[in-house]
Amino acid sequence: MRVVMKFGGASVGKGYSTVAKIINSYAESNETIVLVSAMAGVTDQLIDCAERSQKDIKKEVLRDFIQELLKKHLKAAEESIDDELILKEIEQKLTETLEELERVLIGISLLKELSSQARDKVMSFGERLSTPILWGAVKNLNIPAVYLSGYEAGIVTDDRFGNARPIWDLSMKKIQQTLLPLLEQGYTLIISGFVAETAEDGIITTLGRGGTDFSASIIGAAIEAEEIIFWKETTGVLTTDPNIEPNAQTIPSLSYAEAMELAYFGAKILHPKCLQPVMERENILVRVKNTFKPDAEGSVIVGEGSEQVENIAKAVSVLFNAGIIEVGGAGMIGTPGIAALVFGAFEKADANVIMISQSSSEANISVVVNRSDLKKTEKTLKETFAHTNYIKYIRSEDDICVIGVVGEGLKGTPGVAAKVFQSVAQKGVNVRMIAQGSSELNISFVVKEKDGALAVRALHETFELGEKINYLKRDKK
Ligand code: ASP
Ligand code: MG
Repeated sequence: MRVVMKFGGASVGKGYSTVAKIINSYAESNETIVLVSAMAGVTDQLIDCAERSQKDIKKEVLRDFIQELLKKHLKAAEESIDDELILKEIEQKLTETLEELERVLIGISLLKELSSQARDKVMSFGERLSTPILWGAVKNLNIPAVYLSGYEAGIVTDDRFGNARPIWDLSMKKIQQTLLPLLEQGYTLIISGFVAETAEDGIITTLGRGGTDFSASIIGAAIEAEEIIFWKETTGVLTTDPNIEPNAQTIPSLSYAEAMELAYFGAKILHPKCLQPVMERENILVRVKNTFKPDAEGSVIVGEGSEQVENIAKAVSVLFNAGIIEVGGAGMIGTPGIAALVFGAFEKADANVIMISQSSSEANISVVVNRSDLKKTEKTLKETFAHTNYIKYIRSEDDICVIGVVGEGLKGTPGVAAKVFQSVAQKGVNVRMIAQGSSELNISFVVKEKDGALAVRALHETFELGEKINYLKRDKK
């Protein structure tokens, strides 16, 4: 079998040897390709240091930062590798890579400028430091392995730095050309996730925060893997956030559409884009498993129609760190083009729209965005409508969250909305905004952030998600 797997920062953060053992258990009888993230916290530290370098940073402070990174990674390597030769090789690679990082940061501090291109370059170092260590831990178990960065593996993108989009055809071809011969030679491949390069001039790009999931599915699609396994810190996809509801359960199987809804709406389990490349390829089985309980089944994500469930909902998600913007005024009623102006402003502010609703009186449009996008979007909207008189008010609120009830069973089942809103009303929680996509897979609504946990627990109970999900039909593949 050909299997692609992904390990995130938290998985390697507790020791590369744990991860290497899992890889070993597959590599003996499968073609195994591994995507790995930066160690937990490193990407954030890199961004922080880049931002400080742009303002004012002493050379010694930079030096210390580099030394700290070296120490942290060397320690992780030493903890999971005992072969002296392998350790030497890793130390050399880490030192070289960090020298490059130091030069980049000095450049930023001299220019006092941090372009999005430079930021991507800085962010790429987390994965580039982590990958050789995992390679070493795997080699240490006598598995023939090679390591590559995401761009060396052939992922090419446009130049939307920070959130680059793959150039599909070219990436597919390049990945095949690079990886297939290595697999044929019997190597296990250890590849840095998250990073890629522009197709035009080979400048480093990144695929958006948490993008290693996406790297894994891009590569899985390109080399026609039979399985992609996302190794996480929970046993599969859960019915809700276990920090909010300790009784959250593993969902044994869910459809692509359900998994995507969950990824968008706060369940940080998978990168929202990562199912896109595999959805069109029916032969790829996607699993979500627990690095720290590798024998537990976890979740399987399957194509449409391959299962039937008795339960109405499968999960309750919550998206914190959101904000709401309301645009309103009687001048909007019956005036064509207002919505286009409103959403044009969101595009201009480069703010991703999470949820939209417009009342049928047309006097108000409410939009949910990430909290970090709230102020700039409000400003852009005010500028957009500054010399018009359609709009009476533009206001925003930053202490809200979005709750989503998700499941294929919502489709065409009458009374679900009533059940949802009764459940939260009984807890005295006020609902600010409601949206249901026409896919009917999801009912989402906005409440005050302080009420979020209460609403989640109420819904989890109402939809009996603490009990086993009842499958009437289930294709295990
Ligand atoms: N290291 C990157 C991040 O923290 C990518 C990833 O973790 O998948 O966003
Ligand atoms: Mg990460």
